Amino acid sequence: MIKIENLTKRFGAKYALNGISFEVSKGEIVGFLGPNGAGKSTTMNILTGYLSFTDGKVEVDGLDILEFPGQAKKSIGYLPEQPPLYPEMTVTEYLNFVYELKGCTLNKKKHIAEIIEVVKLTDVKNRVIGHLSKGYKQRVGIGQALVGNPKVIILDEPTVGLDPRQVVEIRNLIRTLGLDHTVILSTHILQEVQAVCDRVIIINKGRIAADRRTEDIAAAVEGNRRMSLKICGPVKEVIAALRALPGVFSAESIGNLDADSTSYVVECDSGIDIRKPLFHMLAKNGWPLIGAEASNANLEDVFLTLTEKSADTKKKKRGTKNDK
Ligand code: ADP
Ligand code: MG
Repeated sequence: MIKIENLTKRFGAKYALNGISFEVSKGEIVGFLGPNGAGKSTTMNILTGYLSFTDGKVEVDGLDILEFPGQAKKSIGYLPEQPPLYPEMTVTEYLNFVYELKGCTLNKKKHIAEIIEVVKLTDVKNRVIGHLSKGYKQRVGIGQALVGNPKVIILDEPTVGLDPRQVVEIRNLIRTLGLDHTVILSTHILQEVQAVCDRVIIINKGRIAADRRTEDIAAAVEGNRRMSLKICGPVKEVIAALRALPGVFSAESIGNLDADSTSYVVECDSGIDIRKPLFHMLAKNGWPLIGAEASNANLEDVFLTLTEKSADTKKKKRGTKNDK
């Protein structure tokens, strides 16, 4: 559905994109994951025809976007980082306006009514956009992207600035869209990719750092499990006992937060769940456990794990060649 080859974008002397290549198949939900300034918006702006590029090739639905810009654009609905909303228009007026702007040919009334239903704007369809909450405005932005029923929907950081409940609602909406569209979204939140996407392309400094199925990312992230514990007991003995648990390769105390308990960080091998042996060990010693928390991996952990892993495999490959 989308094919990008060796895409490069330079702003002056600075490379925003440094030769990225990937394909997205029909029906996939793909997440661009990367920190601020990685090149996510630049890639999306190029894909949607809003930005020119320095070098490379971009195809949408089999059409080169330089040769067939109009047709390629028709296949894509785009929610940019700053949605182009008109605050003085009502939701319905605005969607009608976008319909005209895109030169849509579908049955107007029916099509717009369907969009309003899909993005759950029925209650506010006659309200002025400027008066809506951020979450509703974001739905209007997504609704705008759906006008013309494009095959591909591209959403740039669709949940930024929303409250937690709105985030869940927008994620659910994106999954629904994924049932009959190809969806690309960008985010700097690892959990968002895990909640929504089939596949994740990690972008860093204008290059692709990894391109994996989401479940493989999860495996990489969970490679080393880390837990924070708060335990009442003699520190030296507690550390020794924690280290003696099967699968634990490190246990450190990180200080006393209150009078009678100490905080610890424990790391264990992948696939090991220490919770039950931990419980028995603490009970046997009479050391009360007053807090336990699994530490979530963050984007930095993922970068490190994935880049280390690919360095490892390269080394191994080279090793086998030398052996022969
Ligand atoms: P992201 O969306 O991942 O946060 P962007 O694609 O917006 O990152 O930006 C990628 C890089 O390109 C950044 O270093 C940014 O400063 C630079 N950049 C983006 N747009 C412009 C522009 N119009 N002029 C100059 N530099 C830009
Ligand atoms: Mg951006």
